[in-house]
Amino acid sequence: MYDYDVVVVGGGIGGTAIGGILAFNGLKTLLVEKNEVVGGRCTSYEREGFRVDVGVHTFGRSGKGPLGAVLRMMHMEDAVEWVLARNPGPAQFYGGKFWKFPRELEKLVPDSDYRELIKLLGDLMRIEDTHKLDSVSLKYWLSQYTDNVLVHSFFNGICTMYFVVPYHEASAGEFVRCMSSLAKDMSTGYPKGGCISIPQAYTWGITKFGGDVKTGISAQKIVVEEGRVQGVELESGEFVSSGMVVSNAGIRETVNNLVGRKHFEREYLDYVEGLKYSMSAFTVKLALGKPVTHYKIVNSMTFEDPEEKFRAIAEGKVPEEVDLMVIVPSNYDPSLAPQGKQLIIAGTAVPRESFDKNREKWINNAMENLERMFPGLSKSLLWRDITTPKDIELLGGKEATVVGIAQTSEQSGVNRPKSALPIEGLYLVGGDAGGWGIGTEMAAESAINCSEIILREVKKAKG
Ligand SMILES: Cc1cc2nc3c(=O)[nH]c(=O)nc-3n(C[C@H](O)[C@H](O)[C@H](O)COP(=O)(O)OP(=O)(O)OC[C@H]3O[C@@H](n4cnc5c(N)ncnc54)[C@H](O)[C@@H]3O)c2cc1C
Repeated sequence: MYDYDVVVVGGGIGGTAIGGILAFNGLKTLLVEKNEVVGGRCTSYEREGFRVDVGVHTFGRSGKGPLGAVLRMMHMEDAVEWVLARNPGPAQFYGGKFWKFPRELEKLVPDSDYRELIKLLGDLMRIEDTHKLDSVSLKYWLSQYTDNVLVHSFFNGICTMYFVVPYHEASAGEFVRCMSSLAKDMSTGYPKGGCISIPQAYTWGITKFGGDVKTGISAQKIVVEEGRVQGVELESGEFVSSGMVVSNAGIRETVNNLVGRKHFEREYLDYVEGLKYSMSAFTVKLALGKPVTHYKIVNSMTFEDPEEKFRAIAEGKVPEEVDLMVIVPSNYDPSLAPQGKQLIIAGTAVPRESFDKNREKWINNAMENLERMFPGLSKSLLWRDITTPKDIELLGGKEATVVGIAQTSEQSGVNRPKSALPIEGLYLVGGDAGGWGIGTEMAAESAINCSEIILREVKKAKG
């Protein structure tokens, strides 16, 4: 007789989601989170009346996508209230002006390339078996339509924002799945109460359906005997027995440290070692004494050869104009800033080494770009926080990755690491295994798929 049917290690989106779903389905569930608050890379903190996200988050499909599906699976669909990115909708900032892309690319690219772009967007909605493109790079797929640098750098900009990998490495299949689902659902948005309200709602689900949640304590070991999971040892020394453990702590950390390499075959260890992670990021959070923009989301882009751009960054150069994803949480939910004030969060993908080497230049160039976007911004600045790759490491693991295992043409869709690990009773959820989608949505999808595997196993065991 075990203490719990299942222990979930880690309370990021994937861990809290699967904890809630399994508790709803009657499994005695314990979630253990090493930080004081849940959410991992998708969490928020308070400062001087502002509620600030640690990352810079927009949610591609809001309640219509897997984040909402998790709540529906727990009959808790109203636990998160979404505000959509409308009136005004998303904008792009390029060459000192705000644009609506891809529509307004017509003014910037030759007619023949624009026609190819429109054809591509139509095809994108019609492809039925996206898995045929899993192993094809986005760059290669795009090149079949046009070689126009502006179109390529526009797609690279979107790809870097969604997957935090360059488009010549990203999977075309994964890109097509994400773009077509976004276009069908038309529901990009943001949750009332900030990012943390999503994992918090899932965590309420765990306790509501009879599970337990321990925060501020880490799991030291996942105990395995004779190829089977036995439970989890906490940092307090307490042993919690359980026939199943779901880890949200990342594939390398789980295999190498929590379980231990001796429990895996050499071939699997080599596979895990060879996996590639998405890039890291830095974000700036700006608390403003008065509003400087009515936008909810703006992406600023520069149009130049994407591979050249990544090569220069890898060589240590910092772009004069830093591409930025800019979210204005208080324009979605005014309660996230004190009355009359505004919160802006902006961030960009960056290789960790490049940021660590040129920290001040990256930050200054990002600030200059924000000032170009919103003139007068620095005069209204009350305070500024910066989140660095080092901070992301504390929340999401030592790779300091934004997303997890990168959605490249070798690691997406059918090629994604599996949630069921080669040890009986051991599973992995979140950005490192299973699922598809953008950031948090991939983590939630991974939790949904993994919960189906576990519930099938439980049913089989009961006969
Ligand atoms: C700067 C930035 C911007 C982003 N922008 C977006 C965006 O716009 N849209 C989007 O959808 N996504 C975005 N993401 C990505 C998104 O946040 C992640 O993909 C998602 O949150 C990952 O969830 P996860 O389930 O993998 O869990 P993680 O966030 O990795 O959480 C894992 C949890 O496990 C805990 N843990 C680890 N080890 C242990 C242990 N031994 N014991 C107990 N607990 C442990 C950690 O403390 C952590 O809370 C962004 C991320 C960052 C950093």
